Amino acid sequence: MKVHIGLDDTDSPRGGCTTYLGALLVERLLAMGTEFIDYPNLIRLNPNAPWKTRGNGAVCLRVRCPPEALEKVEEVIFETLEENSDLTCKNTNPGAVIHVGDVPPEVRKFARRAITGLVELEEAIALIRRFGDSALGLKEGRGLIGALAAIGEVLDGDHTYELLAYRTPENRGKRRRVDADSVFRMDDATRPLTFNNVDPQTRRVLITPRGPDPVLLGIRGETPEAVYEAFQMLIVEEPIERWVIYRTNQGTDAHLANVSRIADLRPHYPAIIEGTVLEEPRTIQGGHVILRVGDGSGEVDCAAYEPTGDFRRVVRSLVPGDVVRVYGGVRLRGEGHGVTLNMEKLEVLHLAPKVVYENPLCPRCGRRMESMGRGQGYRCRRCGLRRRDAGKREVVLKREVREGLYLPPPRAQRHLTKPLQRYGRENRGFNGCLIDRWHYP
Ligand code: ATP
Repeated sequence: MKVHIGLDDTDSPRGGCTTYLGALLVERLLAMGTEFIDYPNLIRLNPNAPWKTRGNGAVCLRVRCPPEALEKVEEVIFETLEENSDLTCKNTNPGAVIHVGDVPPEVRKFARRAITGLVELEEAIALIRRFGDSALGLKEGRGLIGALAAIGEVLDGDHTYELLAYRTPENRGKRRRVDADSVFRMDDATRPLTFNNVDPQTRRVLITPRGPDPVLLGIRGETPEAVYEAFQMLIVEEPIERWVIYRTNQGTDAHLANVSRIADLRPHYPAIIEGTVLEEPRTIQGGHVILRVGDGSGEVDCAAYEPTGDFRRVVRSLVPGDVVRVYGGVRLRGEGHGVTLNMEKLEVLHLAPKVVYENPLCPRCGRRMESMGRGQGYRCRRCGLRRRDAGKREVVLKREVREGLYLPPPRAQRHLTKPLQRYGRENRGFNGCLIDRWHYP
């Protein structure tokens, strides 16, 4: 029988990672004689959901197991969840769901909504009951949402892979010892089959996260072979406890599904809007750039934050009248202040002419004339010529920005954001075959 195991919300800012639990379970489930029918799935849910600690990731393991082993499998899953969750953290509310058989369309739909919006715990519980799933929710059990959603996202459309390697306990919390030069060499050798290994501008290594979690590194790519080969190229100067290749919706824009009217924007939802730039972009304290966009239904401030680096240059170079498509997440700005759209991507659809008005040139000596006051005409300082009928000249400036798609640099992209290099490289479906080496041990 086919068994789908969803897991979520086991970690806290102090440590842990639901993918690590997934990796532990790979070893335990294989030891029990189950067979994996897919790579473990790492499903990123709505990145704007207010309850997330970091990347809003949930995990699903899909196995075939003999019916008589099911009870034991459930026992191992629930035990591992209890042992490996940080239950002391207020915001950690672990959940595990076990579904037998094919994934029902209702659960798929639930997953889409959890990725592109917000869902309620009651809905998850109702679906779990309806399909007779086994489930364990600890504390408030909010993790049941992510666990069920991970089961429901079967990744039959675009997807990518991430090889995640984990540290031994004594090293967790310490500096990650991965040779940076080897990461750059690996990046050169494997791009575009891997992506976002490094940030080219700052030369920062991006495969190693920061923080006390057990993840040593993660390599993202288009195929399991590519991430495995890339991993072999690295010089790692600390022991690796285990690693596993995940199949994932990272880098696919899965959260950015719907174009909204500005009037329909809802806090904590990802959104795409199309509209016209209404004012000169403003740079506010902290270096953030704000773009006011309107679409006939309403107006909204779109923000490019300081960490988005040069992306802000593009935003700053827009002028009123430009037509744009903005991709991002809706943030509540505080009581009574409406919402802001945090920009993840910007498409410049149409550039308006950028016009400046200059004082006229003196028809006698060619020098720029100066105004004699409002409606009084112009005079030339050099030769003294006065012209009451002269007016300002309209000059159309060359635009520094072109129509096209713009993204923040890799260091500022979200897990789900589809990088530029992935356009035209989308993966379709999964043939059910796993490469030999997809996990260790
Ligand atoms: P990770 O560290 O693994 O990347 P995270 O720590 O950021 O993820 P979780 O610990 O998984 O996030 O916490 C997110 C919580 O919010 C979970 O309990 C999950 O069930 C819930 N959740 C996720 N997406 C939604 C959503 N769209 N609507 C409602 N609740 C959600």
